[in-house]
Amino acid sequence: MTRTIDQKIADRISAHQNILIVSHVRPDADAVGSLLGVGLALKDAGKNVQMVLEDGADKYRYLPGSENITLAPYEPVDMIIIVDCSDPDRVGGVLSGHGKPDLVVDHHKTNLNFGEINVVEPDEAATAAILFDHLPEWGLKITPEVATCLLSGIVGDTIGFRTSNVTSSLMRKTSELMDMGADLSSVYREELIAKSFKAVRYWGAGLSRLEKDDGLVWTSLKLSDRQEVGYPTNDDADLVNVLSSIREAEIALIFVEQLENKVKISWRARPKFDVSQIAFQFGGGGHAAAAGADVEGALEDVKKQIITETKKLLINQRTNKG
Ligand code: 5GP
Ligand code: MN
Repeated sequence: MTRTIDQKIADRISAHQNILIVSHVRPDADAVGSLLGVGLALKDAGKNVQMVLEDGADKYRYLPGSENITLAPYEPVDMIIIVDCSDPDRVGGVLSGHGKPDLVVDHHKTNLNFGEINVVEPDEAATAAILFDHLPEWGLKITPEVATCLLSGIVGDTIGFRTSNVTSSLMRKTSELMDMGADLSSVYREELIAKSFKAVRYWGAGLSRLEKDDGLVWTSLKLSDRQEVGYPTNDDADLVNVLSSIREAEIALIFVEQLENKVKISWRARPKFDVSQIAFQFGGGGHAAAAGADVEGALEDVKKQIITETKKLLINQRTNKG
């Protein structure tokens, strides 16, 4: 008899004691919520769990178990699980010296299926929603803490149930997570409403140089903006969500200057567009409506090139799909 994927995963989990769980750099709520969701469930089952994020998870201190997240793995490791990550480079240097991951759980359509076992479900709005379905199949329990972490992933990736991939099935999962002990209003407040003073001042720098051409809206955040306001991390403080709420923006873009001559780009698109492929071409990936890439080069050069290419995409996809 052939074993189902879930049975194979359950077998691997029972056969291993020291489990490393990893997600991507500049982690978002789905990365942290999925990492903690599976990590806390495995801990509850008696496993030695290491949860590693190269950039840490300072912004997510409100999530149970986040104090156990470390910046690098330590020995021993006998099973590796990667969550919410479509390619192995996106975890930073965490996996160097380790072999192929045992299990990849993800919802990005650009996923490279780089694990020995891959649970990749691009129709799901969040990796946390995939874990909600599978954890019980792997013999793991969704405790109130696990439920809180998974709900945070769902709320984060759907920007509070606002994206077009929110289905009635996702809402049912959400109600079940609430029944299991997750507090929706506090997850919502922490994830989407509460912003630090520094983050909003950082937004100010980006908003002061907002630009628009046809249906394209974009801005950039410079390293000097971060320094001036004292914003601590190398992300956009979710400013891209503000840009994508602009009525005229069919595609919104943000360029965040990074150390070592790199620029992080985020694309956000209205439902009839697909920005995952352009992100993939520039070495990144993502979903039709939300994608990102890290591109080498000076901010102004990268901006120019990406805006030119994204304008072409906007015009093509507008005519293609009416
Ligand atoms: P964001 O723009 O918020 O960083 O990411 C939007 C979506 O694209 C997320 O699902 C994220 O995981 C994915 N993404 C962002 N940057 C990269 C990247 O450099 N590589 C890949 N593979 N995916 C990315
Ligand atoms: Mn995700």
